[in-house]
Amino acid sequence: MNYKEALQHPVFKTITESADKLQLEVYVIGGFVRDFILKKRNAKDIDIVAIGSGIALAKEVANKLPNKPKVQVFKTFGTAMLRYEDLEIEFVGARKESYSEDSRNPVVENGSLQEDQNRRDFTINALALSINSNNFGELLDPFNGIKDLESEIIKTPLNPDVTYSDDPLRMLRAIRFAAQLNFTIEEESLNAITRNADRIDIITKERIVTELNKILESPKPSVGFLLLEKTGLLEFILPELTALKGVEEVEGQRHKDNFYHTLEVVDNISEHTNNLWLRWAALLHDIGKAPTKKFHKKIGWTFHGHEFEGSKMVYRLFKRLKMPLNDKMKFVQKMVLMSSRPIVLAQDIVTDSAVRRLVFDAGDYVDDLMTLCEADITTKNPKKFKKYHNNFKIVREKIVEVEERDHVRNFQPPISGEEIMETFQLKPSREIGVIKEFIKEAILDGDIPNEYEAAYKLMLDKGKKLGLEVRK
Ligand code: ATP
Ligand code: MG
Repeated sequence: MNYKEALQHPVFKTITESADKLQLEVYVIGGFVRDFILKKRNAKDIDIVAIGSGIALAKEVANKLPNKPKVQVFKTFGTAMLRYEDLEIEFVGARKESYSEDSRNPVVENGSLQEDQNRRDFTINALALSINSNNFGELLDPFNGIKDLESEIIKTPLNPDVTYSDDPLRMLRAIRFAAQLNFTIEEESLNAITRNADRIDIITKERIVTELNKILESPKPSVGFLLLEKTGLLEFILPELTALKGVEEVEGQRHKDNFYHTLEVVDNISEHTNNLWLRWAALLHDIGKAPTKKFHKKIGWTFHGHEFEGSKMVYRLFKRLKMPLNDKMKFVQKMVLMSSRPIVLAQDIVTDSAVRRLVFDAGDYVDDLMTLCEADITTKNPKKFKKYHNNFKIVREKIVEVEERDHVRNFQPPISGEEIMETFQLKPSREIGVIKEFIKEAILDGDIPNEYEAAYKLMLDKGKKLGLEVRK
């Protein structure tokens, strides 16, 4: 392979000139090199390592670039970053790290390229290309990362027990890369992850969530979640999911394994959406089943109220993982809360009024909800599979129909509270709410169309029944 091809962007020429001027040995390293070899040439973040000061190099490069971009310096880390066109270029001085048992933070010293490569997480992430003019494009691959890229293997450069124990986030990164690239984690590494799983506790929640999101965004997220489960990491990170594992049998009645079912649902939905939060909803849609599970002699296994319980658990889970408690969280909660609604609906004859209520309650999320419910069909019985999908197709058609006719999505009452007050000369009182609710119910039931005239008439009728007088 001609590695010079990786360095065609004009910015590399500027870096070469700057490096030569400052007489620094300079390399591009890590993800950028890996992704070039994997022919994923859209890598936009570039990591540059200099034997010496990365900050000085960044400043020199910025000065030579036509638009003289701003350099962001992170003094404590000895790094600097600049943006140029659509690239984000990070500069760092080569360093040697040594960890001691009792401290989370390594002692960092300046080091050689080889020492810098030693502290990298995986052999495939330790590849470096020289960008100095005398050996431009030369590959430095001390751990045979190229071979591991070809055999699709994830492996640490040094003893995996040391690499993972030094920085336990690497365990999650290993699994994330396995999921993103569909690579295999070398057995020794996998065993080391299993041995060190409890060390994940020292990693900040934010960094854990970043990796979880990348696993969820991968083409087939179950690859990552099965590895998380197998190594024991999942129990530390998302115990709500491991609680779904297992099948119980009482008096010959069994329920399905809701953990493996959940992973199937996540894989299914990933074929239809890239929306990270919808994928989170799929992952969490059944978490309420563990605490609500019961066995009844007559009806067998039940999970009554698991959707409500699950939506409350979503809040606690987001909070524990320090994820933002914003409208994304509310969306996930809503999906979990409503996750059985279309199913119940599709089991029966699909009536207009049931669909109208679904659209009313789900609002703008009704399409996402349908996508979730379709992904939830994991039956291995081909007849049932076809029947359920067909029913959902009918529900989707009815949604469009009801929408066009009744406009109940983002429902605005056709008669306002003020108008009711004015009509009957009322002060703010209970009756106003009663009349409004009555009109809304009549529209959702399909007794009257969602129109002003009909609603006005209904208001008068209802007022009369409540003994109210119309203002003259
Ligand atoms: P991507 O950007 O696609 O997520 P990447 O490999 O570029 O993948 P970054 O987080 O951008 O990942 O890190 C850049 C490089 O820094 C990696 O390729 C690796 O060499 C090194 N690196 C990052 N995080 C760690 C870590 N926790 N331990 C050791 N080396 C790391
Ligand atoms: Mg990167």
